[in-house]
Amino acid sequence: MSIAVIGSNMVDLISYIHRMPSEGETVEAPGFAMGCGGKGANQAIAAARLGAEIVMVTRVGNDVFAESTLKNFEDHGISTKHVLRTEATSGVAPIFVDPESHNAIIIVKGANALLTPEDVEWAREDIARCSLIVLQLEIPLETVYAAVALGEELGIPVLLNPAPASPELDLTRISGVEFLVPNESELELLTGMPVASLEDITKATDVLVAAGIANVIVTLGARGALWAHAGGQQLVDAPTVEALDTTGAGDAFIGCFSTTWVGSDDVLAAVRAGTAYAADSVTRQGTQTSYAWAEESQPA
Ligand code: ATP
Repeated sequence: MSIAVIGSNMVDLISYIHRMPSEGETVEAPGFAMGCGGKGANQAIAAARLGAEIVMVTRVGNDVFAESTLKNFEDHGISTKHVLRTEATSGVAPIFVDPESHNAIIIVKGANALLTPEDVEWAREDIARCSLIVLQLEIPLETVYAAVALGEELGIPVLLNPAPASPELDLTRISGVEFLVPNESELELLTGMPVASLEDITKATDVLVAAGIANVIVTLGARGALWAHAGGQQLVDAPTVEALDTTGAGDAFIGCFSTTWVGSDDVLAAVRAGTAYAADSVTRQGTQTSYAWAEESQPA
C-alpha cells in the first residue's frame, strides 16, 4: 500500500496571537511553536501515521530547517531517497493563529520552488510501484503537470489538492486526475463560480465533473465534505467537535482519504474516514502534531 507524495515541505513557525497586528503595529504573542509542515509533507505524515508506505519526492534547502525535515521523515519511516538537497533556503511558513482558531499563513517556498519535472522523472521507478500519486500546488506547476502526465503514462490514479489556490492552474492539463480535492475558496477560484451555499457548491462541482474529473471532493470545514462524481453527489457530515486549531485540517483529510482509498478502493469510505480524521485533528494544536496515529503504526 504505497503512496507517492510529490510536493512541498516547510518548517512551520507558529505564533499563537491574541489578535492580528494592523499595519505598522507590533503585538505580543503569548505562545510560539515550531513544527514540520508544508502541504506535501503534512499529507505524507498523516498517511504514514495511518500505516501507508510513502515515496516522498521533495526538495529541502541547505540549512537547519532541512535537518529537522529529514529527521521528521526518518522518524515516520519515510525514505529520504528522493528528498533532494538544494543550494537554497528551505521552505518556511510563518503561521498566526488567534484564540478563535482563525489562521493566517505566509509561505516562503524556498527549495520547494526548485522541484523540477526531472526530479519526478528521477523517482519514476519508485513512483511506479505506488497505488496513488498525491499532489498539491506548493511546487512549480510544470512539475505538477509532469507528475499528472507520469501518472497517466503509468496508469496510476492521481489526487490533486489545488492548494494554495492558483489562478494559473490550467484545468485542461489536470482533467485526467482521479481525485480533485479543493476547499471552498479553491473551488471558487477553479470554476469562477460562487460557493456561498451548498447549492452553489454543487453547481460548481458539476462543472468540474462535466470537464472530465472523475471525483471532486470539496472539504467544507465544520460542515464536512462533499463528494461529486458522474453518478451523483454525497455530503458527508463532520462530527461536531470543539475546534482548537484548524491549521492543516485539509492535509489531515487528504492523508487519511488517500490511505483509506488505497487500502479499500472505496471512495465513500475514504471520504468518511478523512472527514472524521480531520475533525479529530482540529481538537489539538499544531499541524502534524495534531494528527493521530493508527495504533499499529505508533512507534514504541
Ligand atoms: P486548512 O487550510 O486549515 O488546512 P482547509 O480549508 O484545507 O483547511 P477545511 O475544509 O477547513 O480544509 O477542513 C478539512 C476537513 O477538516 C473538513 O472536511 C472537516 O472534516 C475537518 N474540519 C475542519 N474544521 C472543522 C471543525 N470546525 N469541526 C469539525 N471538523 C472540521
